Amino acid sequence: MLTAVRWEEERLEKIAAYHAEHMRADFINDEYIERLVAAPGVIDRTKIDGLIAKSRALKGLSPEETAYLLTIDDESVWKDIYSAAMDIKQKVYGNRIVLFAPLYLSSECVNNCTYCGFRSGNEQIARRCLSMDEIEREIRALTRGGHKRIIAVYGEHPSSDANYIVDSVWRMYQTKNGPDDIRRVNVNAAPMFVDEYAMIKSADIGTYQVFQETYHKATYRKLHPANTIKGDYYWRLFALHRAQEAGISDVAIGALIGLYDWRFEAVALVSHARDLEREFGVGSHTISFPRMEPAHNTPFVRQSGYAVSDDDMRKLIAVLRMAVPYTGLILTARENGELRRELIKLGVTQTDAGSNISIGGYGDHAAEIDKQQFELSDTRSLDDYISELIDDGYLPSFCTADYRCGRTGCEFMEYAKKGTIKNFCIPNAILTFQEYLLDYASPAVKNKGDELILSYVKDVKEQYSEGMANKTQAALASIRNGKRDLYF
Ligand code: SAM
Ligand code: SF4
Repeated sequence: MLTAVRWEEERLEKIAAYHAEHMRADFINDEYIERLVAAPGVIDRTKIDGLIAKSRALKGLSPEETAYLLTIDDESVWKDIYSAAMDIKQKVYGNRIVLFAPLYLSSECVNNCTYCGFRSGNEQIARRCLSMDEIEREIRALTRGGHKRIIAVYGEHPSSDANYIVDSVWRMYQTKNGPDDIRRVNVNAAPMFVDEYAMIKSADIGTYQVFQETYHKATYRKLHPANTIKGDYYWRLFALHRAQEAGISDVAIGALIGLYDWRFEAVALVSHARDLEREFGVGSHTISFPRMEPAHNTPFVRQSGYAVSDDDMRKLIAVLRMAVPYTGLILTARENGELRRELIKLGVTQTDAGSNISIGGYGDHAAEIDKQQFELSDTRSLDDYISELIDDGYLPSFCTADYRCGRTGCEFMEYAKKGTIKNFCIPNAILTFQEYLLDYASPAVKNKGDELILSYVKDVKEQYSEGMANKTQAALASIRNGKRDLYF
């Protein structure tokens, strides 16, 4: 293997050559977005009501409209926005919450992002890249608890290059034990070339995720040293365009909230989703808005000057829900349990649970601080978290049917826009939740979960169709008789 330094140098040269031939038009106009979010919006009730009506009709919001709502400073307007966001979530997704777990594979990284515990300059972090056997051990521990969906997270380093990503994803899919299996591996890894994306697509990955961290160029430059790969703003900005070119149709964007003005990032996220939609006919499959968390030996986190309040997180999520109604919104266990419970109502569709972000942490239960990228707030077990979801009336889902049935990219959006996704998704959520209750749940969760399933089957009958309710009942009976992995 090349040394990390040589690998980085070669990559930087190749990226420069790529840019020379393939530069796309920049869709982030920093000055324009700054102006949009600079001053408090003048309260124009007719305009606000119009935007709320437009978003309730699931037509989305432009970056300008998003910015206008985000700058409103009036509690009564925000009450209306929250209520619209909750209704939109109900209309498009119902009460489902899709559950996943992060799996961190490596802490070796050539970049030096100021906010990250894994940055190359952090000498107090233990460096490690999991071997294939260690990956298998992690998957066994995760699937034993009931997980079916993973987001695999990689540092940028020759030890975790595209070949390693492919091998590791295969190993995750191949690790099975009775009902324990992983059915969808999403990937969060540094930007790649089109041919590398084609390789990782061939490993049957689900969604490919890259966070821009901050879309604000001056801030980006400050936080990512220029001589590093991550220092190249445009290499990252168009990463998902290249992934689409390679045929990865579910791509996902995000911003690390707390690096710069959160309103700027929100407008930029909507602009990014729109640019993907303009070029590929489909925007972002999901949007993430992780809030920056303390990390070992990483003082910047407390000094960024852009810390975001809980109240602003509410606003961010609600307005994103209105702006991109068909895009999944991901909230993570970075947030504490109480706030998570509240933020989920406003439009979140996916969250992680029972998470451990130490490298190798699921297998040896050692959540040692020098092995993790940052510190998690909500460390409850999957079963405890599911218990709370049931109490709040949510339907926990481990469904992976869409991508396995080819309902991805444009096709997914077509189904979503016709409302048919909800018809598939609620029954599939019921089936995967039934598997969880039979194979993994504690007795208390099983009891209340069984009741929840009955009420959701009744809903399918009353709100969608008797035929679908009957099919769901039949599949539930098969699952109770030992069949697994049934989906529509
Ligand atoms: N190394 C790859 C990259 O940077 O694209 C992917 C993995 S990186 C470990 C995943 C994400 O973690 C980053 O994109 C960043 O948004 C997030 N992250 C980094 N430092 C963080 C912190 N202190 N708190 C919360 N999230 C953080
Ligand atoms: Fe490396 Fe990603 Fe951390 Fe930056 S955020 S130092 S690229 S792991």
